[in-house]
Amino acid sequence: GNKNMNAKLVLLGDVGAGKSSLVLRFVKGQFIEFQESTIGAAFFSQTVAVNDATVKFEIWDTAGQERYHSLAPMYYRGAAAAIIVYDITNQASFDRAKKWVQELQAQGNPNMVMALAGNKADLLDARKVAAEEAQTYAQENGLFFMETSAKTASNVNDIFYEIAKRLPRL
Ligand code: GDP
Ligand code: MG
Repeated sequence: GNKNMNAKLVLLGDVGAGKSSLVLRFVKGQFIEFQESTIGAAFFSQTVAVNDATVKFEIWDTAGQERYHSLAPMYYRGAAAAIIVYDITNQASFDRAKKWVQELQAQGNPNMVMALAGNKADLLDARKVAAEEAQTYAQENGLFFMETSAKTASNVNDIFYEIAKRLPRL
């Protein structure tokens, strides 16, 4: 098969969960304390090497606001992978993440590789969502789960790498 593939990936999740920060960390190795809200969606690309193959991610970073919800299918339709992001210090963002999972299960590509990211894992003292709860939810719904921190870079490359490994090979 082809050793170099492109993969469309979409980030979904509540406003403020850290979608743009995860992308910025992954693509540019940076973190901004006062990341501006995303308007509509933003596009990035980054390549990951897996064994002797490369996966070029074409990344759509969506806004997360309810008023842009109707645009979401444009970004997840045809996507090979999705990262659904919540903030471990915000229970409502976890509830919102579950809604996105339901929507992807109903409308998305059935072979989509889905990752659940519990972001802001550096803010342990403010934790509201137990890792065990998210892990159980992910397992029951066919996602893989990692807690990440765009701030410290913990598990950021890892989550993209894990997705790359799980993509169906051509
Ligand atoms: P988005 O709306 O999902 O794209 O979220 P942003 O990436 O804009 O992040 C929202 C806010 O959370 C910003 O002020 C970020 O600096 C902050 N943030 C994002 N990721 C992290 C993280 O891992 N740890 C901490 N402490 N703050 C984060
Ligand atoms: Mg954003």
